[in-house]
Amino acid sequence: MSAAGYIPRLPGRILNMTVYAKGVQMSLVKRKACEPVVVIGGGAAGIMAAGRAGQLGARVVLLEKNKTLGRKLAITGKGRCNITNTGDISDFIKNYPGNGQFLYSSLSMFSNRDLQKLLESLGVPLKIERGGRMFPESDKASDIVEALRQYLAQNSVEVYLEEDVTGICRLENGIFEVETGRELRRAASIIVTTGGKSYPATGSTGDGYKWAAAFGHTIVPLLPALVPLNIREEWVKSLQGLALKNVEVSVYNQDKLLGKEFGEMLFTHFGVSGPVILTLSRLVVKNKSAAQRLKLVINLKPSIAEDILDKRLQRDFEKFQRKQLQNALDELLPKRLIACVISESGLNPEKPVHQITKEERNRLLTTLTALTLTIEGPRSMAEAIITMGGVSLKEVNPKTMESKLINGLYFAGEILDIDGYTGGYNLQEAFSTGYAAGEHAARQYKENCTKS
Ligand SMILES: Cc1cc2nc3c(=O)[nH]c(=O)nc-3n(C[C@H](O)[C@H](O)[C@H](O)COP(=O)(O)OP(=O)(O)OC[C@H]3O[C@@H](n4cnc5c(N)ncnc54)[C@H](O)[C@@H]3O)c2cc1C
Repeated sequence: MSAAGYIPRLPGRILNMTVYAKGVQMSLVKRKACEPVVVIGGGAAGIMAAGRAGQLGARVVLLEKNKTLGRKLAITGKGRCNITNTGDISDFIKNYPGNGQFLYSSLSMFSNRDLQKLLESLGVPLKIERGGRMFPESDKASDIVEALRQYLAQNSVEVYLEEDVTGICRLENGIFEVETGRELRRAASIIVTTGGKSYPATGSTGDGYKWAAAFGHTIVPLLPALVPLNIREEWVKSLQGLALKNVEVSVYNQDKLLGKEFGEMLFTHFGVSGPVILTLSRLVVKNKSAAQRLKLVINLKPSIAEDILDKRLQRDFEKFQRKQLQNALDELLPKRLIACVISESGLNPEKPVHQITKEERNRLLTTLTALTLTIEGPRSMAEAIITMGGVSLKEVNPKTMESKLINGLYFAGEILDIDGYTGGYNLQEAFSTGYAAGEHAARQYKENCTKS
C-alpha cells in the first residue's frame, strides 16, 4: 500500500503531506479556506465517491469506522468479488426490481465498462463468467480493495480509519459538523455511504439511516434481500452441503405461482440457499404474512419433458431390474438425494425394481419434477446479502445523488432504497451512485471554494 493519501488513525492530524506535495501549490490557499467534502463509510460506494471527488480536485476526507477499508467488499462473491456484469444499461435496470429506473443517469455516467477501465488502469484486469458475471482475473476480492486504495491515494483522499461517526448536523451557514466521538469535523458537504444493515460484522450497522431520518428523509422499511430460507422439513438438514445445478425452483402461495428461477441451489443446516434461492427470497420476504403457506417446488429434471423422463426411468428400471429401488437411481440423481426422493414419493426403498408398479413410477416422477418443501420464512437481516428498503429515492436527485431536502447532503450505495439481484448488480450500483455523488459534490466544492 502506498502511503499517499492513506492515513492511519491519528486524531485531528494529517500526516500525509504528499496530499499537499502532490496537490497544486497555487490552489493550496483556496483549498485551506474551504471545508472538505466528507465521505462517511469506506465501502464500495464511499471509496468511489471519495476517489472521484478527489480526482476532480476537491479536498476529500473519508471516514471509516473499521481498521481497514472495504471489509464487505473483501468478502463479496465468496472472496472472488463478482464486481459487475457485462449487460447494457437496460439489462442493468431490469435487475433492480422496482427501482432500477432511478439508476439510469448514474449508470450512464459511470458504467460497467468505465469500472472495468478504471480497474484495469489500476492493474486489475477482469474476466467474464456465466451470466455475464465479471470477476477479477486473479479471483481475489482483496485485489479490488487494494486497487481502490490506490485510487484513493492517487487522488489525494485523506483517509481516516477507526473513525466511527456518531452524528452529523448542519449549521445555519450550511456547513456540516461531523462527530466521531474523538473530534468534531467540519464539512462543506457530506456523502453518506454507510451501507445497509446486513452482515453487521463488516461495519454496516445501518448508522446512516438514523441521520437521514433526522434530516427529514423517509426510510422505506428495511427488509433482508438475497437471503437464504428456513425450511420446515427436517430431512432437508440431512442434505446439508449438497448443491444442485440446473434445477428449476418455483415459489407458490398455496396454488398460486409467485415466481420461478432456473439455476443452482444449495441445501444447508437450516434449509436452502444458493443463487436461485437468493433471487426467489424476495417473493418470500414480500409475502411474509403468507409465509406459512409458501411452498418451494423443485423440478430436479427441468430440461427433460415428463414423458421422456418416464421413458428414462423405465430404461433404468429395466437395466437395474434385479436391484432394490434405492440402488437403481444412481444414474439419475446425486447419491445423497436418492433416499429423500424415494421417501417423499412414499415408496419402499428396498422394493425390487421389477416389482415397481406404473402408479409407483408415476409417484416417483411427480417427486422428481415437483419436490415440495415448506418455507418457514427468510433468514435474518444479518445473513442477507443486501438490504431492501432505505433512503427513499423520491427524495434524492438521481443525477447527483444529492438530497432534495438538504443541500450538500448526498447518499450513495446500499443505504438507498434500491437492491439488485445477484450477478454483480449491487456493487455496480454502489460504484455508479458513489461516482455520481463524488462528481457532484466536487463540483459544488469547487464552486463554493472559488467564491470564498
Ligand atoms: C457475503 C456478501 C457477498 C456479496 N457478494 C456480492 C457480489 O459478489 N457482487 C455484488 O454485486 N454484490 C455483492 N454483495 C453486496 C455488496 O457487498 C454491497 O452491495 C456493497 O458492499 C454495498 O456497498 P456500500 O459501500 O454501499 O456499503 P458497504 O460495503 O457496506 O460499506 C459501508 C461502510 O461504511 C462503514 N460505516 C458504517 N457506519 C459507519 C459510521 N458510523 N462511521 C464510519 N463508517 C461507517 C462500514 O464500516 C462500511 O465499511 C455481497 C454482500 C455480502 C454481504
